[in-house]
Amino acid sequence: MLDPAIAAANAVGATDVVVYSNETETLARERVATAADALADELDVDIPIRVVVGPDEYKAGEPTMALEAIEGNHRLEARRTPPGPDEYGIDGRPTLVHTPRTFAQLGRVLAGDELDGVASDPGTRLFTVAGDVAAPTTVELSTDDTLETALSAIESGSRSVACVGGVFGGVTRTLDVPANAAGLASAHLGTNGVIELLDESTCPVAFAGERAAFAKEENCGRCVPCREGSKQLVELLRDVYSGEYKDGMLRELVRVMRETSVCDFGHDATRPVSTAMDAFGAEFSAHAAGRCPTGDCDV
Ligand code: SF4
Repeated sequence: MLDPAIAAANAVGATDVVVYSNETETLARERVATAADALADELDVDIPIRVVVGPDEYKAGEPTMALEAIEGNHRLEARRTPPGPDEYGIDGRPTLVHTPRTFAQLGRVLAGDELDGVASDPGTRLFTVAGDVAAPTTVELSTDDTLETALSAIESGSRSVACVGGVFGGVTRTLDVPANAAGLASAHLGTNGVIELLDESTCPVAFAGERAAFAKEENCGRCVPCREGSKQLVELLRDVYSGEYKDGMLRELVRVMRETSVCDFGHDATRPVSTAMDAFGAEFSAHAAGRCPTGDCDV
């Protein structure tokens, strides 16, 4: 990952490389620091590699809040874009922001490797199978595999109800979905590499409510659509338990939050709710009628 990051820095004329990590990722950080030292001895380039730690908060992964954390700001708020980080990044300097996956893929291209998978998103993607499993397991899938392939890595390989794409991933009844960006997007799932399996006792309505509550608690508060919208989302989901499933209002709120929030946090925060409504509409109606099909909720 670091070799191609240096190559990218050279290509754009950047003066340093910053590796940004969650503060809890101690092992990853140590490994990056060791690799950076080795690389500095090996390469004759004057591009220092710094490892910078951000707080253990979901929002700190949003690119512009990551820039704030790297600058040492304790109160994280997303930046308005444009200008994006490529114009106004760390300390106001143009900054190229990429994930480790992108640099790893770049490294394979620079090494002349032939990338398999689909042409629009070649190579591989890492997925951690987590949730209701004995032990989370990370697997590397070719982008022409389906998500189902990942289930072979865990003991009970038959379950398919899952939230795919991290905390604000999409809820799905099928993992027969291509493991590439276009396939995940067309199935309304997220691209963060997590397949969170949900067992039969998990109520999808309660699950969506928990993710909405997380969005309400964890957003940075900068913009109204996300700050107030996430509150309304929680309230509308509570109303389902009181007998009122306002499908149209929920979908309109989802649309407004998605289209008008300032950053990806607000764009993505509605995904667990909208996809759960799509895949489990009958369960939402059952709750409004006073019954939780899984028996998980007090209705
Ligand atoms: S979308 Fe949410 S997290 Fe992003 S700026 Fe608005 S309030 Fe903050």
